[in-house]
Amino acid sequence: MEEREIFVTRSSMPSFDEYIEAIKPLWDSHWLTNMGTFHRQLEAELRGYLDVPCLSLTVNGHMALELVIQALDLPEGSEVITTPFTFISTTHAIVRNRLVPIFCDVKCEDGNIDETKIEALITERTSAILPVHVYGNICAVEAIDEIAARFGLKVIYDAAHAFGVKVGGIGVGNFGDASIYSFHATKSYHTIEGGAAAFADPRLYDRLYNLKNFGIRGEELVVSVGSNAKMNEFAAIMGLCNLRRIDEALASRKAVAELYDERLSDVRGIRRFAPRQDATKNYAYYPIVVEDDYPLTRDELYAELKNTGIHCRKYFYPLTSDQACFRNKYRDVPLDTARDLSDRVLVIPMYEGMEHHDAERVMQCVARVD
Ligand SMILES: *Cc1c(COP(=O)(O)O)cnc(C)c1O
Repeated sequence: MEEREIFVTRSSMPSFDEYIEAIKPLWDSHWLTNMGTFHRQLEAELRGYLDVPCLSLTVNGHMALELVIQALDLPEGSEVITTPFTFISTTHAIVRNRLVPIFCDVKCEDGNIDETKIEALITERTSAILPVHVYGNICAVEAIDEIAARFGLKVIYDAAHAFGVKVGGIGVGNFGDASIYSFHATKSYHTIEGGAAAFADPRLYDRLYNLKNFGIRGEELVVSVGSNAKMNEFAAIMGLCNLRRIDEALASRKAVAELYDERLSDVRGIRRFAPRQDATKNYAYYPIVVEDDYPLTRDELYAELKNTGIHCRKYFYPLTSDQACFRNKYRDVPLDTARDLSDRVLVIPMYEGMEHHDAERVMQCVARVD
């Protein structure tokens, strides 16, 4: 019998009735975007939930990153030290700001930028460091911020995967000069499409406001050149509904993750990442690393799972530095660990409401038992 397909993720959603009830006020106000009531309410609620001093909502995570880099006003053509083990958005945001990505190798235990290799990459052209908290595993933020302070560099964290994570009791958005979040439908918390930048300097809020709204400051006043990257009210309301259910969503993901943890602990050749112990977990993804003593390669395991209707993702393969648009364009830095991880990693299905017997099916296939 054909079993149904299992996808790597499935968007969390409030009940139909809850969302419909929540969007009703829009039919009274007819105010659908342009920093409306719900945009302002979601900014306030997320400042609280993420434990950050300032937050600006955007149309998506990529624009949050692109605009926050622009708002920091880094010298044109300067170098930004970053990780190639990420979603392509991270590297695009650097290059679209006319900056030069310098790829740094990552650590095998958590997939994050190797902070011990950053200093050797710093030159007089370096202006910033842009690490990613990959899978919600938190970088060595203290060491990275210390290096940045010593060399007078800015730090922008791509926290697209790190929604709600706290490290040493502090919201992860408090490190560096700014952090960006993605609220894309496939992320653990979402607003359909959306994103945010979090930061401490209130002047950044004004700069981002201008950048996301054409620099318009009055009916007849445009103060700077800006883009259009506002979050609309339907998205903000989806965000408010999903924030109300965040504990429930987290508990559901956690139950699946614990089932996987238990089943995988004795599967030879399958390694799991070891994130920092002092950081909370948001169960955004469930990545596994296929080592040499596993009977199949990562690609073979991927194909075998796919044949049984289980759709995993090779996040992140290829490295962004190896993509056609960036290959051989930037400084040639050894990326051995990143490349090895990229060949071995597989993100297996995990989402809110995943049936445990579906998780069992995934495990049977990974553990190669019938
Ligand atoms: C999803 C993601 C982004 C971009 O976010 P969007 O909301 O899709 O624009 C940026 N960086 C990383 C690491 C991501 O996973």
